[in-house]
Amino acid sequence: MDNGTYEITVKGLVQGVGFRPFVYRIAHYYNIKGSVENRNDGVKIFARGKRSDIDHFIISLKEKKPLASTIKSVNVKQISSKDYKKFTIVKSKSDSDEITDVSPDIAVCPACLGDMKEQSHRINYPFINCTNCGPRFSIIKDLPYDRDKTTMNVFKMCDVCAGEYSDVMDRRFHAQPVACLNCGPRYELISKYEKTDSFEKVLNKTAMAINNGGIVSVKGIGGYFMACNALNEKAVKQLRQSKLREGKPFAVMFNGIETLREYAMVNAEEQELLQLWRRPIVLLKSRKNLAFSVSMGFDTVGAMLPYMPFHYLLFSKLNTPVIVLTSGNILDEPIIISDREASKKLLPVSDALVTYNREIFNRVDDSVQLVVNNIPRVIRRSRGYVPEPVDLTLNVNGIMACGAELVNTFCLGKGNQAILSQYIGDLKNWETYEFYCESIERQKKLFRVDPALIVCDLHPEYLSTKYAVDSGLPVVKVQHHHAHIAACMAEHNLDEKVIGVGFDGIGLGDDNNIWGGEFYICDLADYERVTHFSYIPMPGGDKATLEPWRMGVAYLYRIYGSDFFKLNIPFVRNLVKKNAEDIIRMIDKNINCPLTSSSGRLFDTVAAILDVCTYSGFHAEAPMRLESLIDNNCTDSYSFKMGKTIKVEVMIKEIVNDIINGTHEGEISAKFHNTVISIIFAAVNEVRQRTGISKVVLSGGTFQNRYLLQKIENKLIKENYQVYTPVAIPANDGGIALGQLVIASKRRELRCV
Ligand code: ZN
Ligand code: ZN
Ligand code: FE
Repeated sequence: MDNGTYEITVKGLVQGVGFRPFVYRIAHYYNIKGSVENRNDGVKIFARGKRSDIDHFIISLKEKKPLASTIKSVNVKQISSKDYKKFTIVKSKSDSDEITDVSPDIAVCPACLGDMKEQSHRINYPFINCTNCGPRFSIIKDLPYDRDKTTMNVFKMCDVCAGEYSDVMDRRFHAQPVACLNCGPRYELISKYEKTDSFEKVLNKTAMAINNGGIVSVKGIGGYFMACNALNEKAVKQLRQSKLREGKPFAVMFNGIETLREYAMVNAEEQELLQLWRRPIVLLKSRKNLAFSVSMGFDTVGAMLPYMPFHYLLFSKLNTPVIVLTSGNILDEPIIISDREASKKLLPVSDALVTYNREIFNRVDDSVQLVVNNIPRVIRRSRGYVPEPVDLTLNVNGIMACGAELVNTFCLGKGNQAILSQYIGDLKNWETYEFYCESIERQKKLFRVDPALIVCDLHPEYLSTKYAVDSGLPVVKVQHHHAHIAACMAEHNLDEKVIGVGFDGIGLGDDNNIWGGEFYICDLADYERVTHFSYIPMPGGDKATLEPWRMGVAYLYRIYGSDFFKLNIPFVRNLVKKNAEDIIRMIDKNINCPLTSSSGRLFDTVAAILDVCTYSGFHAEAPMRLESLIDNNCTDSYSFKMGKTIKVEVMIKEIVNDIINGTHEGEISAKFHNTVISIIFAAVNEVRQRTGISKVVLSGGTFQNRYLLQKIENKLIKENYQVYTPVAIPANDGGIALGQLVIASKRRELRCV
């Protein structure tokens, strides 16, 4: 009587993370007979045993699950009794159209690092992995997750590996990428002088090149990377020239957490994040100097810890504890994944190219995180995060969102899940656009999504918009900042009216002006623009984003007229007078001067007038420079005027006076940031008083500013607002696609599309 049969369905991130063998082992332990199998919609278990054993089994299922797995639901139902002789793992079948989460790539685990020193067939074997670790999304071509659907399919397991793969008590039981020295992928080193696939030589020569101040390009998990000694200024400078990358800081990898702590300030949350199986780059405050050209004068460093066996083996041979490890690409192209392209583009600018003979199927760059107010925030979502879906309360089935243009991602809707793509990049680049189109096709197939509705930005010139229009599907167009706010709402499952603050660089508004300093009352279907920064001409359009001095001139000209040339401040003294006069003519005659309310451009203006960044070497350099100057002890701020729009001319005037009076730039930067915080607070307060709405959503790239986000979030919480900020989804345009997806879903639900 006590024996019953139960059908248990587990949903979540349960494939490719050692879940079935884990289930097998606990079933064995609790004397349960039956079976476990991967279904497209989750893991299905049939369990027969004593009720008390079944209960323990289910508790263990939830509490002892593999490190990288996430359980979203466990459904238990008693079925008519079946007789099982033993517990078995049933071979995968794809009998349903639903999908289970495909696991992201997982950093090598400590047990495998141990095996690498002890197992005779895996001594120093750099492709070691087990059911708890190793490549996943980067090598998967189709579902269900089985070896023959990955790029491991060309490697035939040797008898030893096959034995481990089929031995249920082995850590590599059903580990799809299982491999060893005798049967798995191999590294190869290519240089001008030689070619070798002896791993000992590969490793020694790679280390020698880096130790000697050289540059090595290495095939990683989701693409090629370029590496050099991060303490050797000459090497880092050389790397910058090779990549044609002028100013954007490089990420670095440390040999361990102890060394990392020597060079950067790390709090508890940051340390946990650095050591997480996802192994992101974490943006930290610097403590001890690396070579100048790593961070280019910024007081922060993007740091990570080793995540591939190769990284650990390499560090054991290096005489530096830290290397630059930056995406292997030239200029704005996507990170290189093809071996041919690597030898064509990376080898000529490297002392050696280190490659291996397993194909990378899905390109995934390193992910980036930032901790603010003790909460880790995703800035770039790729390796270790993608393709984990976002669970929604809305039905987004059959919707595809095309994203924006810069830092593009796209998003597919499947039932109540949003599958946000990996970081794609700037679509204006042709190779990136190809990557975009290819990834859309692959992920539609992988996740079995056949879109019936497509959604894009209002901007007619975005390539993502053109993609949507050309698809032939019904198109929904979504305003950029509405999408920013909706993305954050989706993440926090908000479906009601909120006060939305959308601050970023650029996004087209519904009046055809360039928006970016916006206050909305909005829900998922629609928005009402409450107030925004007063419009100012953006001389030269997009060119102004690359040349902040243009915004500086636009503001000074508005305030002082042509008299601004007489201001005795470095910015004006250093202006090329003729260029500035051209800008004034453009403004007077309204030639190529779109109007903007962008907060990003306001940060540019202040950075320019302070003369700390008049030309931008990379996206958002000016605001980043300004932020890095902040004097944390300064609590003063400047004046501003609230009205139908927000006027900051008084503030600019006060900043100019401060510069003339010799006020320290750290103080000016702090006062400016504090003013922006006061503006947000004042505008939000006004809306609450009028409407009673107390939920505030802060979104858009400007909220990646650590100081700004920290202060405004705390200030609003203190005043009893419920504050929602981007956490698992980027605040920047990498989150736009998710926002578009939920807006389209809501409008479809309300039948407005
Ligand atoms: Zn492992
Ligand atoms: Zn083998
Ligand atoms: Fe944006």
